[in-house]
Amino acid sequence: MTEPIVTDVVVIGAGLGGLSAAGHLQAKGYDVVVLEHHTKPGGYAHNFKERGYRFEVALHALDGMEKGGWAYSMFDLLGVFDRVGMNNLDPFYTVAFPDFEISVRTDVADYVDELSAIFPDEREGMIALFSALERLGHDMARYTADMRRGDGAPQDEMMQRYPEMSLAFSTPWAAYVAQYVGTTEAVAVLSTLWGYLGLPPSKVSAGQFGLTLLSYHSSGAWYPTGGSGAVTRAMAETIEERGGVIRYRNTVASITPDGSDRIVATTDRGLVVCARAAISNASPRATVGMLPAEIGDGSWATELRSETPALASFVVYLGLDRDVGAEGWHHHEFFDMTSYDLDAEYDKIVSGEFGEAGMIISNYTVVDPGCAPEGGSVIALTVLAPWDYKDVWGTGGDLESYSDRERYKEIKEEVADVLIDRAAKRIPGLRESIVVRKVATPLTNVRYVLQPEGSLYGREQTVMSQMTRRKPTTPIENLFLAGAWIGGGGMTLAVGSGRSAANAAARHLSGLRPPTASL
Ligand SMILES: Cc1cc2nc3c(=O)[nH]c(=O)nc-3n(C[C@H](O)[C@H](O)[C@H](O)COP(=O)(O)OP(=O)(O)OC[C@H]3O[C@@H](n4cnc5c(N)ncnc54)[C@H](O)[C@@H]3O)c2cc1C
Repeated sequence: MTEPIVTDVVVIGAGLGGLSAAGHLQAKGYDVVVLEHHTKPGGYAHNFKERGYRFEVALHALDGMEKGGWAYSMFDLLGVFDRVGMNNLDPFYTVAFPDFEISVRTDVADYVDELSAIFPDEREGMIALFSALERLGHDMARYTADMRRGDGAPQDEMMQRYPEMSLAFSTPWAAYVAQYVGTTEAVAVLSTLWGYLGLPPSKVSAGQFGLTLLSYHSSGAWYPTGGSGAVTRAMAETIEERGGVIRYRNTVASITPDGSDRIVATTDRGLVVCARAAISNASPRATVGMLPAEIGDGSWATELRSETPALASFVVYLGLDRDVGAEGWHHHEFFDMTSYDLDAEYDKIVSGEFGEAGMIISNYTVVDPGCAPEGGSVIALTVLAPWDYKDVWGTGGDLESYSDRERYKEIKEEVADVLIDRAAKRIPGLRESIVVRKVATPLTNVRYVLQPEGSLYGREQTVMSQMTRRKPTTPIENLFLAGAWIGGGGMTLAVGSGRSAANAAARHLSGLRPPTASL
């Protein structure tokens, strides 16, 4: 076993939650060591290369990136804008429903004008809906500022002090939007982005969905040059330049708390880091599994273990030998919707009817031309996906060496073919131009980022889970949690959760003596 590393804070996981926590702690003057399971930073926010094509693993669009947008200052502090250019997506996306197609502008007035051309009777309602979302945004900003100042409202005053936020966070999106817009088709269009949260309108929190929609429509939709991997590489390089240490291929196997100012993380390779505090970007379910049994079996841990993961994804990554953008397929993001009943779409996803449910066709080459060789394109076909499809994708839940199993390969290529056939109806000749074809299932998500059941967004973002959103603190004084399970799904929220965890850890550390130097 090598000598233990001694530091102020050990961060478990270099996903966006962990990188953000580490960077924010450094900005406060603390030393950090980050331990990461994978060979590169970013968790879901990374890319891979194959025969000259660079594939984006996850990102479709970032929100909050405009100067003054809610996430801008965090990405700035983490060194992203010094190294990575951001491209504004406007139109943000195109959506095709059975009877019409719309290219959605981010500017609210433009968006409402576009929708009013199809749904003239809903114009006033849509204007009122976006005004309500503005109020929700203001309430949320005031609530966050009040909480930071230690001036949070008692539970019985929440409705009075933050009325729109209280209403939105206690209502599913379907009921919230129904206050303003009645036509099923118009509601479906306004809810196109439900897949970005993983639950349909009748189930997803209106607070969470409304803030996401507002963020894209107030500070734009963005895609970084070089993809999300460029963003997380920039964050990792900044951490290392500022004296932080990141160790890859180190999966933390145990966390041993020892009083309020010492905590030890040990990896599967025998690397030991002795810190004053720890922040875990691993899922809460995995984190409690790393703790000693007397803590890991307690009621807090049992509650975390029982949380329902959000849906996973199934993605077909295609390298084409044609520039389909130059031929007219200019959509960075194209939603191929099969019906206006989004709850029925969700049911189809859960039961694995991938030919029938909403699919996103992304042409990354349009906004980030460097991802494909000259004259080629990078296309991704994305659907949400359940964990338990055909007996866990033909593996029976046995995750050891599953990728070589014939049944697994058969099922994954079958589903990929369904999606390619669908996409070929939109991009003629697609199948014939494929030179690279890679497929990621929910099990791939587990393999690379260790998210339970391949969840994209942490726990399901229901009304209840968002009303009772977890804090980064835990019953162990010097252990904190960061990532989508805590802050909400999506890349900017994962970064926000890292900042909250760093703030909580710094509050704890500022009351403590200097680090102990030995185990
Ligand atoms: C296909 C797809 C499309 C998406 N599209 C978008 C989008 O367009 N916009 C958007 O905002 N979001 C999108 N998301 C969601 C977004 O990527 C995630 O919600 C977010 O990146 C989660 O960040 P995280 O830090 O919580 O977790 P993760 O990214 O999962 O990071 C956790 C990290 O911890 C590491 N780790 C886990 N356990 C251990 C351990 N024991 N020891 C060491 N390291 C460990 C993992 O390897 C990983 O690096 C998408 C996701 C997917 C998969």
